[in-house]
Amino acid sequence: MEHGFIAWAKQRSARLPQIRLGIGDDCALMDPISIESVVTTDSLCDGTHFILSECGPRAVGHKLVAVNLSDLASMAAKPLAVFLSLCLPRQSSGEIASEVFEGVCESCERYQVAIGGGDTNVWDGPLVVHMTAIGQAPQGGAWLRRGAQPGDAIYVTGSLGGSLLGKHLNFEPRLSVAQSLHPLGIVRAATDISDGLGIDLLNMTVASRCGAELELNLIPVSEAAEQRSRESGRPALEHALGDGEDFELLLAIAGDALDRVPSQVDGVPLTRIGTFVSRTGLWSKTRRGVEQLPPRGYVHG
Ligand SMILES: [Mg+2]
Repeated sequence: MEHGFIAWAKQRSARLPQIRLGIGDDCALMDPISIESVVTTDSLCDGTHFILSECGPRAVGHKLVAVNLSDLASMAAKPLAVFLSLCLPRQSSGEIASEVFEGVCESCERYQVAIGGGDTNVWDGPLVVHMTAIGQAPQGGAWLRRGAQPGDAIYVTGSLGGSLLGKHLNFEPRLSVAQSLHPLGIVRAATDISDGLGIDLLNMTVASRCGAELELNLIPVSEAAEQRSRESGRPALEHALGDGEDFELLLAIAGDALDRVPSQVDGVPLTRIGTFVSRTGLWSKTRRGVEQLPPRGYVHG
């Protein structure tokens, strides 16, 4: 399979100037990235991050690209190239490989990202896919998780919760939001929501050595979270706080710049959901006052 697959993959993938020598040699050659390179990697395993028999291999390729690009978006980086590595189940390995690759190609074409190379292996385990993505830091520097200050507002893109109902396989990495906001110079820290709003916000506060106070009634709860709530009997807000794999951006915006925050970018809403505070930990602000919030987001409805 290897030779024919590589020839096909080389032919199938778009040639873009950021990769001087791509698929087909031992390594790829890239010209130096002018300012600073931003590099990330992610793995997805059948049974954990997707169910192959339910979603099919092409969707796995889409998700693999999107999770990596979401990490680049969270640092406001521009994606340039990806490298992928597939561990294929022995049964129908050829077909799975080409379908995953097709999904990767479709997503890469969409964002003008080059496929610099990869590797395939066959084994007796389930499908496991890996990707490394390389991007270019924006002028002025990448956003980091650290940098939020007490008094900064907490903003989130889109809506949260219930990603298991489909969004986790089919979401838009927030590259255009990041690229529109970065030049405004109002974002002090950022991350993307992979583990869940509660956990990812907590990670941001730990990195920034501060705390966060959420206004629970402001959190944009998705339709899917409402649907999950009807199935689980738990409040939809709990799904929005704890489900994860939303791949929305979580931002710290300087408290004196709120009048410069657009209400949406390319149709993606930006919502203020709270404030970074000096007291460490996660807190929720309700009518009753301020209460500590468990990061997994178990809230009493
Ligand atoms: Mg991330």
